Amino acid sequence: MSVEKPIFTDPTVLELNQKYRTQWALHSAEALLGWDLEVNMPPSGSLSRGVVMAEISLMTQKHMAEIYPLLDETRVGDLNDYELGVVRILKRKQKYYTRIPPSLLERRDRVAAEASVVWREARQKSDFKMFLPYLEKNIEIKKEEAEKLGYEKHPYDALLDQYDEGLTVKDMDQMFSKLTSALKTILTKVRKENSRFVKDSPLVEKNYEVDSMKKVNKKIIDLLGMPKERFRMDISTHPFEENMSRDDVRITTRYEGTDFKSALFSTIHESGHAIYELQLNEKLQYTPIGVSVSNGFHESQSRFWENVIGRSREFVSLIRPALTENLAFVSSYDDEQLYFYFNEVRPGKIRVEADELTYNFHTALRYQLEKKVIGGEIKASELPELWNETMEEYLGVKPANDAEGLLQDVHWSHGSFGYFPTYTLGNIISGMIWHNIRKEISLEDRVREGDFEPIKKWLYEKIHRWGAAFSPQELAKRALGEPINPDHLIEYLKWKFE
Ligand code: MG
Repeated sequence: MSVEKPIFTDPTVLELNQKYRTQWALHSAEALLGWDLEVNMPPSGSLSRGVVMAEISLMTQKHMAEIYPLLDETRVGDLNDYELGVVRILKRKQKYYTRIPPSLLERRDRVAAEASVVWREARQKSDFKMFLPYLEKNIEIKKEEAEKLGYEKHPYDALLDQYDEGLTVKDMDQMFSKLTSALKTILTKVRKENSRFVKDSPLVEKNYEVDSMKKVNKKIIDLLGMPKERFRMDISTHPFEENMSRDDVRITTRYEGTDFKSALFSTIHESGHAIYELQLNEKLQYTPIGVSVSNGFHESQSRFWENVIGRSREFVSLIRPALTENLAFVSSYDDEQLYFYFNEVRPGKIRVEADELTYNFHTALRYQLEKKVIGGEIKASELPELWNETMEEYLGVKPANDAEGLLQDVHWSHGSFGYFPTYTLGNIISGMIWHNIRKEISLEDRVREGDFEPIKKWLYEKIHRWGAAFSPQELAKRALGEPINPDHLIEYLKWKFE
């Protein structure tokens, strides 16, 4: 039996990891409070929950200060990759918490909690004016944050970096321009040739019993091999994944009673996120790098499982028994009809309902507007008009009201500016994974047989085991052979849709 070398041996890093456990505990508590807020909390709990979250942020900031003296004297000369990762992540946190004053931190969390309550009502009433003052406050806070954090070229860079280390406007401009122009070409071709992807499926209109669909979803998480003792699934308005540790990983889904693919694919999507967390390297737990590397990589996992695997012909035949057993109407449709139902291409107004060809236009639109509003080129009050214009330019559709326009997403109420581009980054990285994994694994055969272990193992070896030891770009180079690059997503979409 070989004795495995411990990952951390440097005494200073070991001490840093030890001190970091308090941070870990605070993050874990925040995660549980966040999960509870979406799943269990009565609506009036929002404001007091906002106060609690703000206090925890302040505790986090205060405790981080106890780590800096040791961090400042750490010598990186002979550290291994993992140890260097610990220092890199802690320096990032140090930069953030020393540049953002406590008053701004407190205001940010409090305003976000207030704004999300108002947003909910404003969305219901489709009343942008009601939400505007809160949106303005959130934007001011984010601009202030960008100034405090500093940036080289664009204030939005400082916000992008918080979700994806090192990501800039320059990167996103390049990726979006390449991607949207390629997507336009594929989309035009698919629509002109009147392919089966653009024909309406009668399955969209079919109603289902919630209890029956719950059984389907239960079967799906069994097929994906989600471990019962470390994983659970609940219901919330907006599906999400959250984890308290790698042994307590949770997802939510939702049941609308019609168009069953929506409940199905939100379950697979969030399971993809969960598989990343469940497979994080055990030895990194409680340390600064025992987390996912970036939002973009996280989303790549969910998109890979949802789209590349879940929307494939092989997956359709794998899950057919689970579908027909619980949803009787499915029996009247063959595998091909189900496949085209799962992959309907239809330019629409709602991001979360978008197909693989139109999705990135929704994020491109939000990116353009966020960049301008944070850069001070436009005012918050101008957003609805610009939103509608850009929607028409990109997808040829115009929202009838603000509820199906810029009030549709929760992100701006939370002040999460810089988040949307990471969805597209996730699609791009998922394309890179598709390109690479097929060199080693026969994806189609494995999916048809429901044999997901080799796929999970590949994802573990290449991505999950490293936690945040490397920066996202460095991990892309090591795991996927090159820096983050949209070409493979384009190649995948052509392969699938043309
Ligand atoms: Mg996601």
